[in-house]
Amino acid sequence: MKEVYISIGGNLGDKRENLRNALIKIHENKNIILTKISSFYETDPWGKTDQQPFLNAAAKLLTNLSPEDLLKTLQNIEKEMGRVRKEHWGERIIDIDIVHYEGVHIRSESLTIPHPYFSERKFVLAPLVEIAPKLVINGVTLKEYLDNCKDNLLVKKVSGSPKDFNMTIIAAVDKSRGIGCQNKLLYKIKSDMIFFRENTLNGVIIVGKNTFKDIGFLNKRRIIVLSKSENFVGENLHSARSVLELFNLLDKFNEKIFVAGGEAIYNLLMPYARAALITHIFDAKKADKFFPPLYDFSLKEMRFSEENKIKFAFSRYAKKENHPFD
Ligand code: ADP
Ligand code: MG
Repeated sequence: MKEVYISIGGNLGDKRENLRNALIKIHENKNIILTKISSFYETDPWGKTDQQPFLNAAAKLLTNLSPEDLLKTLQNIEKEMGRVRKEHWGERIIDIDIVHYEGVHIRSESLTIPHPYFSERKFVLAPLVEIAPKLVINGVTLKEYLDNCKDNLLVKKVSGSPKDFNMTIIAAVDKSRGIGCQNKLLYKIKSDMIFFRENTLNGVIIVGKNTFKDIGFLNKRRIIVLSKSENFVGENLHSARSVLELFNLLDKFNEKIFVAGGEAIYNLLMPYARAALITHIFDAKKADKFFPPLYDFSLKEMRFSEENKIKFAFSRYAKKENHPFD
C-alpha cells in the first residue's frame, strides 16, 4: 500500500455535503483506505474570480492502485457526483486532485505528480499542512511551502468536516483482532462493561444493527443505528441509512460521539475518529468479526488489569498530531 495525499474542493451546490460525500465515496472504494482528513476551509476562487467561494479539504489515503488507476477511480467519483467538465478553473461540484503519491514523479499527458500547482495555492497547502506539515516534496516540507506561498487569497477554516464530530472508537479487541462471533461479543468482562458505560455515559453511540440487537437500549445514552436495510426509532434511538445521513444527524447533537461496532461500522467510520478507547484482551477466541488496523493513531495511555484469569489493558489512542492552521 502506498501513501497518497489528495486535495478536494468544490463551489457548487451544498458544498459541505459534497465534500463529505466525496470523502465517504473515496473510503468506500475497496482499494482505498482513508486514514486522515483535514478540517474544511473556505477559500476565495483562484484563477477565475467571478464565482462562488470554494470549500476545500485535504486527505491522506493508502492504496494499492497505481497512480493512473487511482486517478481514474477519483475521476469516476467526480463523475458519479455529477461533475461536468467545462472550463479549466471554472465552477465545479467536486474536484479531486492527487498532490503526492509516495515515491512517484510523473509528467504525462493525463497525470502530473506531484501536482503542478500545489505550492502556489494556499487552499491546497493550508489543509495539507494541517494533516502533514512535515511531508517533504522535492526537498521542502509542506509547512515551508505554506510559509513561502505568495498566494494572498483568503483561506479560512470553517466547521463541517467529519473530523469536527470528534468521534471516539470504542472496542474490546483480542490478540487476533477478534471482536465478535455469531453476532455476539467475544468476551463478557465486567470491568470492561463498566469502562464502556463510564466513558459513553450521556453520549451518542453509533452501532450497526447486529450490535444493536446484541447490546440493546442503553440507559442515559442516545443510540444511532447505522443500517441500510432496517429502520429503528424510539426514545433516544435514531437510524441512519448511510454515512452521509449519519453526519447530517450528528450535526444536530452536541454530546460526545462513540463508535461501538461491529466490524463494518468500525471500517466505515475509522477515518473520521480522533480517538480510540481499546480494551486489548491478551487472549484469543474463535472469531468471525475483526477490528481494523488503527492507521495514524498513537498510543497515549495503557492501564493493565485482570479478571477471571483474563489479562487485558484499557488503552487510549489519539489520531496522530494535527497542526491546526488558523
Ligand atoms: P483542475 O486543474 O482545476 O483540477 P481538472 O480537474 O478538470 O482541472 O483537471 C484537468 C486534468 O488534469 C484531468 O483531466 C487530469 O487528467 C489532469 N491531471 C494531471 N495531473 C493531475 C493530478 N495530479 N491530479 C488530478 N488530475 C490531474
Ligand atoms: Mg482536478
